[in-house]
Amino acid sequence: MVLHWREETEEDKQSLRVFSGKYCYNIGMKVLVIEDEHRIADNIKQGLEQERMVVDLAYDGISGFDLASTESYDVIILDRLLPGKDGLLICKELREQGNNTPILILTAKSLVIDRVEGLTNGADDYLTKPFAFEELVARIQALTRRPHAVNSQILKVSDLTLSLTTYDVTRNNKPLSLSQKEFALLSYLMRHKGIVVTKEQIIDNVWGYEASILPNTVEVFMGYLRKKIDTVFPKKSPLIHTVRGFGYKLGK
Ligand code: CA
Repeated sequence: MVLHWREETEEDKQSLRVFSGKYCYNIGMKVLVIEDEHRIADNIKQGLEQERMVVDLAYDGISGFDLASTESYDVIILDRLLPGKDGLLICKELREQGNNTPILILTAKSLVIDRVEGLTNGADDYLTKPFAFEELVARIQALTRRPHAVNSQILKVSDLTLSLTTYDVTRNNKPLSLSQKEFALLSYLMRHKGIVVTKEQIIDNVWGYEASILPNTVEVFMGYLRKKIDTVFPKKSPLIHTVRGFGYKLGK
């Protein structure tokens, strides 16, 4: 995954087509992985990033719970046994806070009683270690397609639409061609329509919590997006607005 700004390559431009098959649904999806076994955690992160998801990682229960409570995610992958704060307790407390993010619990135990315990604490699904990576991706997709998931399949703002399943973006019924990162950025803005989002929020959500990119990169990508969404529709009111000193807002 490229975290540093660079010129858009031909590959980026073609990425719509390349990834418009099996995995297009995952692009820009934000995942939190809480797992204390570093090797497993790092492998999951690397694998999901190859699936074009944005992944934050926590190696213990306390920092994992903090991230889960303060950031917004499409799905949380939570190890059952964690130092600091137990996985089931994290699950229970997040649900008590009203957090509805789908939670997939990883467990070394396959005991039925353990599963029941997890489900009654608000977990959505279970995966027993060791597991095949494809199985993890399939479970994530199943969870985020459920009706209570943060994602809706089609996002709409004014005459702009974005499909999270087909990857189609249109304005005024005219198809637009976006790079992978532009797509992720636009889907984030559309999920927060009418709300001012800061550059820091955008970096955290589109590039990932640990990304070492500069706020200037956000401006650069916002410029690309503006050109495609607003500049080519001079008769339409612009949808991307800069809120000086704060950030950006998408809407009329
Ligand atoms: Ca563990």
